[in-house]
Amino acid sequence: MTVADNKVTLGFEAEVKQLLHLMIHSLYSNKEIFLRELISNASDAADKLRFSALSNDALYEGDSALKIRIEFDKAARTISVIDNGIGMTRDEVRDNIGTIARSGTRQFFESLTGDQAKDSQLIGQFGVGFYSSFIVADKVTLETRKAGEPSSHGVRWESRGEGDYTLETIDRPERGTRVTLHLREGEDEFLDGWRLRAIIRKFSDHIALPILMRKESPDEAKDEGKTAEWETVNSASALWAKNKEDISEEQYNEFYKHVAHDFEAPLARLHSRVEGTNEYTLLLYLPSHPPFDLWDRESKHGVRLYVRKVFIMEGSDKLMPRYLRFVRGVIDSDSLPLNVSREILQENALLEKIRSGAVKKVLGLLEDLAKNEPDKYRTFWKNFGPVLKEGPIEDFKNKDRIAKLLRFSSTHTDSEEQTVSLDDYIGRMKEGQDKIYYITAETFTAAKNSPHLEVFRRKGVEVLLLSDRVDDWLVNYLSDYQGKHLQSVAKGDLDLGALGDEEAKKQTEEATKELQPLLDRIKAVLGDKVADVKVSGRLTESPACLVSDVYAMSRTMEKLMKAVGQQTPTSKPVFEINPNHPLVVRLKFEPNELRFQDLTHILYDQAVLSEGAQLDDPAGFVRRLNGLLQGL
Ligand code: ADP
Ligand code: MG
Repeated sequence: MTVADNKVTLGFEAEVKQLLHLMIHSLYSNKEIFLRELISNASDAADKLRFSALSNDALYEGDSALKIRIEFDKAARTISVIDNGIGMTRDEVRDNIGTIARSGTRQFFESLTGDQAKDSQLIGQFGVGFYSSFIVADKVTLETRKAGEPSSHGVRWESRGEGDYTLETIDRPERGTRVTLHLREGEDEFLDGWRLRAIIRKFSDHIALPILMRKESPDEAKDEGKTAEWETVNSASALWAKNKEDISEEQYNEFYKHVAHDFEAPLARLHSRVEGTNEYTLLLYLPSHPPFDLWDRESKHGVRLYVRKVFIMEGSDKLMPRYLRFVRGVIDSDSLPLNVSREILQENALLEKIRSGAVKKVLGLLEDLAKNEPDKYRTFWKNFGPVLKEGPIEDFKNKDRIAKLLRFSSTHTDSEEQTVSLDDYIGRMKEGQDKIYYITAETFTAAKNSPHLEVFRRKGVEVLLLSDRVDDWLVNYLSDYQGKHLQSVAKGDLDLGALGDEEAKKQTEEATKELQPLLDRIKAVLGDKVADVKVSGRLTESPACLVSDVYAMSRTMEKLMKAVGQQTPTSKPVFEINPNHPLVVRLKFEPNELRFQDLTHILYDQAVLSEGAQLDDPAGFVRRLNGLLQGL
């Protein structure tokens, strides 16, 4: 096969076209970021080569001085970004540049609304990457050769950023990648060494590799024949290794955007060096918005591990537990051996210590925000609260510290916003109250309007309203806080402890005696739908409610388990009725057996509905209710 035979024209995935279009139009006012993105990729490519070369020195091909070069050509109207990093094979070019493989990108597309203004904002929240070249270029040529491959395995990729691209095998002696932008009409401002230097210093100063440009002096520019002298434009040292005082806010933020593939500045950061036998540096950030792959179990993004400035791996739960998976940044260890493989790291005790140290620092950062910057903490909680709630489940050792950071909705806040801490709750507990009461439900509204809350409302006792998916797991693991038991208001017999009054208790007992025949009659109708029928002490307005067994899984939990295909022993609820409610009174005196049955089923179904749950037989409910309405 000749080289020419290798040239193929391929179409972009539909989504790439869409992305390109959107990017060009929405990022135009920020167009110089293309350089940051290309430099960021070049730097990642160098990191990858350095890591692979740890176990195979031959990959350096005798040249281990990794660097990035920026060139421009006024006559040809091109800018090139050249690296001697890992490079790509033909397949890799096709997979990485022609398709949208990253799951985050997919989710990004799923969240597009079609509304230009809204979508432009979205793209700003999402790492833009290689395609940002097309903001300023109407043709992009990428030439690359993978480290360790023969020079005949070079690849040229070229596209005008419209529907398709070409892919061609070329001869390329140099290892690594060269991206050449052919500038659009009117973008000549970038054909200026000083402008390019200013952009590099602004966006990419933190890059640890030297970024080189040709020296410029008026004489040399004229002297075409002379071999070029190169000079380093950036400070070319790992940002995290510098002293805090020497790093500007802007440098911190640009570094974040690079490691997090984010477009916006972070919410908060911590930069610290741990000394001792196990020495390491942390530069960790909290994003200001949720990354698109927050709920993606396959997500590769996260914290990066370096050993003495050599990149080792990214996004492993060996570096950060799952419940802190939103954290971005770098951990650089001085103590781990350089020749570690990713496999060895799986069981490394030193790494485990680093991880647990890093977790403590992140929890410290969150505590600090919660205390001193409540607005920021609220933003954090809105974005990542449900993730942090996995903490007490996953990290037993730090359970209490994490519990202190949790926030909930409650009957005392009356908005869905979760702002109540367990400490707030305890501080407001009623005289004689010894438990933390909560209810879990499918939605905030279902929780807030649950009949189970009635007696607590009447007594002014606060109840936490839990409606995040994770909440049912959470309360299983967090059964106590500061010596106070967390008690569901929808489970077991009503136990108000010292809050209960004897009078009410006596009334319930008396009503039970008096209504025993009614209770038996209802039980006969409901059959094995219920474990028992009782007179309720918790209802003031609603006619009835369902209560689960103390040890039973909550009903939302049961549903969750079923949804993921788990067999669960379905526990039958107790059906509690309000003896003072007119409907119950009517039931008591209902002579017609059929009507009695209908009314009983309706009360039961209403209790199910008020939990936000689904009826087994909704049509039956409608039929009975209509019958009853007509009979009125
Ligand atoms: P991201 O950097 O967030 O992964 P990009 O769109 O910037 O997204 O790049 C897509 C992929 O293309 C990279 O993940 C990498 O695999 C590949 N790539 C881009 N530029 C280079 C380069 N200079 N050298 C090697 N691979 C590259
Ligand atoms: Mg990139």
